[in-house]
Amino acid sequence: MLFRRKSALLRHTEVPACMAENFILSGYRIPNCSFGEYLGSAFQPTNETGNFWTHFLATFVFAFYFLELFWWENSAPVLDPFYYPFWSYFIGVCGLLVVSSMAHLFNSMSIVVREICFFVDYGTISAYTVGSSLAYFYYINPRTGMASDGSVPWLGNTPLTSMDESKELAPTLDALSPSAAWYPAWLLPVGSALARVGWWFEALYVPTACLLALVCTLACCCSRQQWPRYRYIIRTLVFLLPFVVVSTPVFYKLYMGACSSSLALFFTRHCLWLLVSGVFNICKIPERFSPGKFDIWGHSHQWFHFFTFMSILDELHMIKEAMKGLEGDLPRPPTFLATFGVMLVLLLGLAAIVLWFAMKVHAVERKPKSQ
Ligand SMILES: [Zn+2]
Repeated sequence: MLFRRKSALLRHTEVPACMAENFILSGYRIPNCSFGEYLGSAFQPTNETGNFWTHFLATFVFAFYFLELFWWENSAPVLDPFYYPFWSYFIGVCGLLVVSSMAHLFNSMSIVVREICFFVDYGTISAYTVGSSLAYFYYINPRTGMASDGSVPWLGNTPLTSMDESKELAPTLDALSPSAAWYPAWLLPVGSALARVGWWFEALYVPTACLLALVCTLACCCSRQQWPRYRYIIRTLVFLLPFVVVSTPVFYKLYMGACSSSLALFFTRHCLWLLVSGVFNICKIPERFSPGKFDIWGHSHQWFHFFTFMSILDELHMIKEAMKGLEGDLPRPPTFLATFGVMLVLLLGLAAIVLWFAMKVHAVERKPKSQ
């Protein structure tokens, strides 16, 4: 195989500047090889081998812990509508892991393919955030598990209603009932504000997650070609902003003290793993301290993959914990359209963005040849 001999790999000075990574001096694959040769490179020591396996193997680990819930819970069939948001989350995570591993496997093919790999990678990260938002919306929704009589704090002790009824009630939800036993009097103004926020949450949480996913993918793709000065700020925001917005139901539950201790623990660990992964990715640890020593194994991107996966795993445990607490009972029954339909429309939107940028890169790369 082409990359088996170490001499068949290139140094950072021998590949196009846009393909070289900071502090990684060797282990680069030769561009313009065949599909089969890049496929085979998964089993050869190059500087992308660890990047590939850390997300490819992670897919199976994730699938195992995901399917474990169905072994534990026998009362409902796998395709019961209760699990639609859970499967949407599964599509988001597996899409992210599989596409990321494939992008690392084939990104040395050419500059165009490398750019497309990055575009698709950004798209799947965004799709993952929307998959998470669907799981949070149905299983960690502030309406769930807050009061045994079906009342909810931020909807002003109003019995659970359908979406349409909620809209009608929205103007009247600006005052909480003073008889609300679970709500201290001094919190009434806060509760009043939350009542309004609650309605907006119900109506806009998932659409906002979708809009953010599209805007963030667009911004990330743009940052590869334009705004070089702000590319790191943009990409950091792209990870941070959807995380903050999507996590609002958990923040709310933590604020209200309505989280079980295990749910709070999983969420805290989810955040910590994300933070650690960000530090490794931005600071380029450990290769920064010894350039050339971690070219094949142990460089920052592999740690970044590992820690982001640990973060996803804790998020999965958190969602499963929330689902177990619900005992099959949801305030809003998920529908096929509101879960898989949302994911499908989003994926079509993301595909359109990726295709548009791919055509732009392709046109730019073809330009010198045609002149
Ligand atoms: Zn990666």
